[in-house]
Amino acid sequence: MKYEEMKPGQIDEVLRTCPIAYLAWGALEWHGVHNPVGLDALKAYNMALELCRATGGVVLPPVYCGYQTMKPWQGFRHTLEFSKSLVRQYVYEHLENLYEEGFRLIVIVMGHYGGKHVETIKAAVAEFSEKHKYPKVLAITDYEPASWVGVKGGDHGGKNETSLLMYFRPELVDINLLPGGELEQKVEGCAVNAKEATAEHGRMLTEVFVAQAAPKLRELLQEVMEEWPAPMPERLVIRS
Ligand SMILES: [Zn+2]
Repeated sequence: MKYEEMKPGQIDEVLRTCPIAYLAWGALEWHGVHNPVGLDALKAYNMALELCRATGGVVLPPVYCGYQTMKPWQGFRHTLEFSKSLVRQYVYEHLENLYEEGFRLIVIVMGHYGGKHVETIKAAVAEFSEKHKYPKVLAITDYEPASWVGVKGGDHGGKNETSLLMYFRPELVDINLLPGGELEQKVEGCAVNAKEATAEHGRMLTEVFVAQAAPKLRELLQEVMEEWPAPMPERLVIRS
């Protein structure tokens, strides 16, 4: 399931039976003193793995490449800000590569929610889809599927994001590092309800995410497989 750990024959088997590729996209960004800076990618990656367990397919290694992060926005350190053009190009080239490799449904799970960053990823997807009718490509935030049934997720290092990381990687979160009393967003650089985070809440958000997204993706893959019976790629790709 983890693409970087698979041998060619194992990848070929997935391409024959369930050619879905998941790509978790995050950032390295301040998420409050209680969270590690890789939170966005760590959580989206683990959510993608859970989803992949339910649908089949492969999960690419997470990408830590964020635009519109906390550094230019509010001046927080321990944050790497990349340019819009790099993010767009990096997404686009992933899609072209995954297309060439024979995947027929590509799902980008976005763990960093900066509005312009999300727009940029969607613009790259639109550019690719304009050029290729197939494979189908979706870019969704990791909180979108739960919103289809009214479950609100998505914040910045607050109750929701912190809970998700507490569920997947409890050893990486330390709520006790937050100061006592009411939190201030501008001072702490995270949503003010961060102390309400629990692993149980993170588990619930993940379960709703998988329960909502998995059937839709299975259906979409089925449609693509019927409409676009692509041949298996050759072992060697000769580039002219
Ligand atoms: Zn985040």
